Amino acid sequence: MAEYPKCDFCSAPFPAWVHPSADFIMAEGWASADGAWAACDTCHELIEAEDRRALAERAFRTVPGGVPRAARNEVRTKIQRMHQGFWKGRNGVPYRQTYVQDAQHRQEGQR
Ligand SMILES: [Zn+2]
Repeated sequence: MAEYPKCDFCSAPFPAWVHPSADFIMAEGWASADGAWAACDTCHELIEAEDRRALAERAFRTVPGGVPRAARNEVRTKIQRMHQGFWKGRNGVPYRQTYVQDAQHRQEGQR
């Protein structure tokens, strides 16, 4: 598992936004929601536009390691359920977060 912060929707590194949301029980085996969701610029825009469909599709397409054909429906359902928790739980104004610069440099050095 990567050690750097990731977008909670599409796994992009160093997401620039935080979207406050209430805690909720996540589907088993999936990352926990601890009250706020990190979002990259692209996902942030989809959230602001309330484009739930596009956001779910983006999350589906960026599942780490890809999704086996046989599991597609199951994974889509899980993502939708996860996002439902997010949409229902939203309880604050999104804000930008910044990272210590050298953390980013260290990450780039590993590529
Ligand atoms: Zn994202």
